[in-house]
Amino acid sequence: MLKIKKIVELRKILESYRLNKNIIGLVPTMGAFHAGHLSLINRARRDCDQVVVSLFVNPAQFSPGEDYNKYPREFESDIQKAKAAGVDLLFAPNEDELYPRKLLTHIEVADITDCLCGKTRPGHFQGVALVVAKLFNIIQPDKAYFGEKDWQQLKVVERMVYDLNFPVEIVPLPVVRDKDGLALSSRNQYLNQVEKRQALVISEALKMAADKIKSGQRYAVKITGLVEEMIAKTDGVELEYFSIRQPENLTEVKVIKRKVLLAIAVRLGKIRLIDNILVEVSDNVSDYAKEQNPSGNNYRG
Ligand code: AMP
Repeated sequence: MLKIKKIVELRKILESYRLNKNIIGLVPTMGAFHAGHLSLINRARRDCDQVVVSLFVNPAQFSPGEDYNKYPREFESDIQKAKAAGVDLLFAPNEDELYPRKLLTHIEVADITDCLCGKTRPGHFQGVALVVAKLFNIIQPDKAYFGEKDWQQLKVVERMVYDLNFPVEIVPLPVVRDKDGLALSSRNQYLNQVEKRQALVISEALKMAADKIKSGQRYAVKITGLVEEMIAKTDGVELEYFSIRQPENLTEVKVIKRKVLLAIAVRLGKIRLIDNILVEVSDNVSDYAKEQNPSGNNYRG
């Protein structure tokens, strides 16, 4: 596996890949690899001739006062994990390499960044869009792999690619969870044993909400109320938001009629965790009602 820090050096190698007509896959990361990252790398490995992983804790996506300085940095073990996963090239630039001067150019994907994490982390998605655009221009991958764990980020990247005609295919991959349901995150390592147990309420609340929808509840406000209650009962966990959204444009859903995104963000002390789940709704007749009355007689959906 090649380890590269400089853009000029990287471009030379990528040029040789392209001369050989290799399909190049990019997995952008901030490091501290876990099975979520590895699922993206494994998929890229299957799809592509050359797998490039970028490892860069991007200061532009952290606001002052957020955990940029405390964000986990595990370069040596990340190298081992990337090697073991069959990565061809690890691009790990220093901050000066990506941001040598104050940037005068900004990328803002409007509307879909006004809600959810965009509301509580102003500027965050501008920072994400900026670094992803830079990585796409530097690496020019054929495919780029993103986790659905960061659903809003995925939508921002997809929209930026569409609006600005980046010649790259975005490949989304499902959320990877631990055996108890907690979505894997580099920040999970900061949870102590008690907090780890408390954090399970995140995926449990999503599951409870999904079950309510599956058994016929269609009013978002009712489901939101139940989630708020469940979180409020859990010591140490503070709800930042729970929201039911249309998965693609992230507009708020009041009455659930089709597939929805349930998105949640909580705080455990200083640690902020997010999660989400998609819930399919096939029609306006609830599965629960169908189960209770398979013939469908007398059901008024
Ligand atoms: P990060 O290093 O946290 O910026 O994440 C790099 C990529 O890995 C992003 O596309 C994330 O969405 C993805 N990712 C992080 N955690 C998970 C997870 N638990 N399951 C799937 N993908 C993930």
